[in-house]
Amino acid sequence: MTNSAVKTLSQLANHEEFIQRHIGPDAAETAAMLSELGVDSLEALIAQTLPADIRLKTPLATGPATTEANALAHIKKAASKNKMFKSYIGMGYHPTLTPNVILRNVLENPGWYTAYTPYQPEIAQGRLESLLNFQQITLDLTAMELASASLLDEATAAAEAMALAKRVTKSKSNQYFIADDVHPQTIDVVKTRAEMFGFDIIVGKAADAAAHDVFGALIQYPTTNGDIRNDSALIAQLQANKAIVAVATDPMALMLLKAPGQLGADVVLGSAQRFGVPMAYGGPHAAFFATRDAYKRSMPGRIIGVSKDRRGNQALRMAMQTREQHIRREKANSNICTAQVLLANMASFYAVYHGPVGLKNIAERIHRSTDIFAAGLKAKAIEIVNAHWFDTITFKVTDRAGVIKRALAAGVNLRTDVADTLAVSFNETTNSNDIAELFDIVLGTGHGLNVDALDAAIVKDGSKSIPADLVRNSSVLGHPVFNQYHSETEMLRYIKKLENKDLSLNHSMISLGSCTMKLNATAEMIPITWPEFGSLHPFVPRDQAQGYDEMISQLGDWLVNITGYDNISMQPNSGAQGEYAGMVAIRKYHESRGEGHRNICLIPVSAHGTNPATASMTSYEVVLVDCDKRGNIDMADLKAKAAEVGDRLAAIMVTYPSTHGVFEQNIRELCDIVHSYGGQVYMDGANMNAQVGLTSPGFIGSDVSHLNLHKTFCIPHGGGGPGMGPIGVKSHLAPFLPNHTVVNIAGTGASNGAVSAAPYGSAGILPISWMYIAMMGGEGLKQATEYAILNANYMANKLDPLFPVLYRGANDRVAHECIIDIRPLKEASGITEMDIAKRLMDFGYHSPTMSFPVAGTLMIEPTESESKAEMDKFIEAMSTIRAEIDKVVAGEWTVDNNPLAFAPHSMQDIFDPEWDRAYERQYAAFPASYVSENKFWPAVSRIDDVYGDRNLICSCPSPEAYR
Ligand SMILES: *Cc1c(COP(=O)(O)O)cnc(C)c1O
Repeated sequence: MTNSAVKTLSQLANHEEFIQRHIGPDAAETAAMLSELGVDSLEALIAQTLPADIRLKTPLATGPATTEANALAHIKKAASKNKMFKSYIGMGYHPTLTPNVILRNVLENPGWYTAYTPYQPEIAQGRLESLLNFQQITLDLTAMELASASLLDEATAAAEAMALAKRVTKSKSNQYFIADDVHPQTIDVVKTRAEMFGFDIIVGKAADAAAHDVFGALIQYPTTNGDIRNDSALIAQLQANKAIVAVATDPMALMLLKAPGQLGADVVLGSAQRFGVPMAYGGPHAAFFATRDAYKRSMPGRIIGVSKDRRGNQALRMAMQTREQHIRREKANSNICTAQVLLANMASFYAVYHGPVGLKNIAERIHRSTDIFAAGLKAKAIEIVNAHWFDTITFKVTDRAGVIKRALAAGVNLRTDVADTLAVSFNETTNSNDIAELFDIVLGTGHGLNVDALDAAIVKDGSKSIPADLVRNSSVLGHPVFNQYHSETEMLRYIKKLENKDLSLNHSMISLGSCTMKLNATAEMIPITWPEFGSLHPFVPRDQAQGYDEMISQLGDWLVNITGYDNISMQPNSGAQGEYAGMVAIRKYHESRGEGHRNICLIPVSAHGTNPATASMTSYEVVLVDCDKRGNIDMADLKAKAAEVGDRLAAIMVTYPSTHGVFEQNIRELCDIVHSYGGQVYMDGANMNAQVGLTSPGFIGSDVSHLNLHKTFCIPHGGGGPGMGPIGVKSHLAPFLPNHTVVNIAGTGASNGAVSAAPYGSAGILPISWMYIAMMGGEGLKQATEYAILNANYMANKLDPLFPVLYRGANDRVAHECIIDIRPLKEASGITEMDIAKRLMDFGYHSPTMSFPVAGTLMIEPTESESKAEMDKFIEAMSTIRAEIDKVVAGEWTVDNNPLAFAPHSMQDIFDPEWDRAYERQYAAFPASYVSENKFWPAVSRIDDVYGDRNLICSCPSPEAYR
């Protein structure tokens, strides 16, 4: 006998599923929204929205949903297969001690990790300050004039330095020089980039650099084998021949070494990883980049600048190139969009925490360990290859294989990738027992060396391992911010103070179209700070990374299934980087077929700015394709352009659903047309959140796509990164996926170059996407997509009477986002989309995407994670704003004295003794009843963009300036 009212055990267990935590609307809200849309089921809505011919016929094969607890147990088991050896491999990656106050309050804190890139600076002053600190650290350590906030990794920063060199050099040469003692992965990435640009690379002895006619050169300081050379004469010689010289360096070494700027460098770059960011099997970490003021217009990435707000207060913002690619398109300095803000913030807090004295102490400790080790080897007549050192000793032993064997047996990794040498790089975690253990490993037991005795001798005689002329003679980090937060109480409060200035997903919906700001569930985030994932060096022997291998390959299989492709590369560490890897694969594919002459890339006018910027990185010429009045790609224009370029057609880059938020009906036809001319289809996967489980790029007929794992697959945006941009490809492109010079990647061409420093990009955050897919299962993923579409259509319908929805697809449905048109009201009232964006802050909301892809519009993407209740609050805000605009139109308020024109209202503004506004203070700050329950105060009032660009300041202002 069964009682149907009593649930079975498995039905009871289902009640605990993650899916309902990830998806915002409950059953009642779903019913209400469906009724608003006039459909009786989610399935009916989807049938109206997606073209029937692209609907998948089979369900996803990613398995059933798993509870949070089960998924965590499963991934813990995989993680435990990683072996946590001590790493002395170096090569730009070092063990570090993340200060716990930073670990818990930044890396593990949604207030920091769920924020978006600070495009709305009034509600992002916290991370802007932290990034400005990052720039200040870079400036102090490098002695350069201008620093940017962060780049993806050291190797790609080096590639950007080469691109900058070509932009600014007066040399006519097409050759670029790389010293052979630069890290191998850096050489690899720069070579790939040079091949795509059509530059010739010379790799040779640094000393010979000036013998070549080159437009630029890259050297490293200290070198990959640990040596420290004074290259100032070489730099001057190169510059005399009009070459632009980049120096790759190490921030910890620079605490003791003379700054590269003082040696004459034009560009200085490197990785900030060892400033408190775990190695995480290769990333994510932030790279730093600095150059001369004269090259500021050619600088890649973001620069944080100091400006002032409407009240004349100091205020920070992204300077000059805000959304550079969207303005300069294929002429952009770089395609970098998502970078590594969260990690730059961690590194910057690490410097704030330790201060100049603490950091110098750490650097000296590392240097002393190295000196002691070197002294021991010398005492035993072991040949040391490098004449000088900071943290690395490269040496030769007769029994190399035996030493490696002893090391592995002791759970120790040495650097072994160079055939006849071994190397050891010391780090912040090294203690005297570790040095003694290394002596045992290298010399065998019974060597008789004593670490304390060796240390005492160095203390007595002094160290000569840093050349006298290269000892740092300038002070660093003198700014107050690096000298006043050294107790944990002060540090905690500084972190919290900055966090409080930033609006993140833990406050309210961030409905940025194209950015997919969905839930970043806590369970997804938990594994990334496990040492089993965090402590691995990217170049460990393969058998030590079995847990990573297992997780990455399962995630890869799932993504293959979800995208309908055949292979996946996990190397690109952002979406734009994925675009680049995909275009490299396309170019190499054409070349392999003797069709290297194909050099045209079709791009719809509505494309995201990274698309044309990327196409130009593979030396493709961009030909724009028009859109029709409904926002769809103009098929007649596409056919005409394709016919016109004929067999020069290399590719099209197309986003689906389109950046207009519409499922275009003839996407299959588009693929066929491009293929018929021998071109390849690059489908930008940023909008996968509208596809997963319902259709797929591979099924539709494209050849390659990147996936923004930080959009659709739940990696948080981190305030502007990290991200991951793996690419899926059809099998014919698989042989052209990136490889890596240090770690061979199976299934791709052996001779292919790398696009990122680490073989699996920012592998350390892949567990987030793994957890998401595991907990949702195939059915849950499909449901997420359906709800993304439901929420967007609900929003479109409710907002349309207030602000007209610009584009709709079949049956008047939108995909997972919608664009509302501000232009007619702007015309009538003088109120702009910018005013609306700023006024939303008074309601506690971050603006939707502004003026992309259409100027004068807002693009809204609620995602599946937002409830109807939250969306209704936003709709109420928009309705109130509409009423405010109406008052301006009616002449009740003038165009420059109304709550929109003065938005956002900071607390200082509201409590200004002189209040001469045409509206009440109370209404300005609390424009809806729900606001008073959870008020978010913008830290400053509206920021003056023009002033900031005219008076560019990218370093920490002096304390006087703050007063
Ligand atoms: C976000 C986005 C990109 C770039 O991705 P990043 O990870 O930020 O580099 C490219 N195309 C579209 C349509 C996007 O929305």
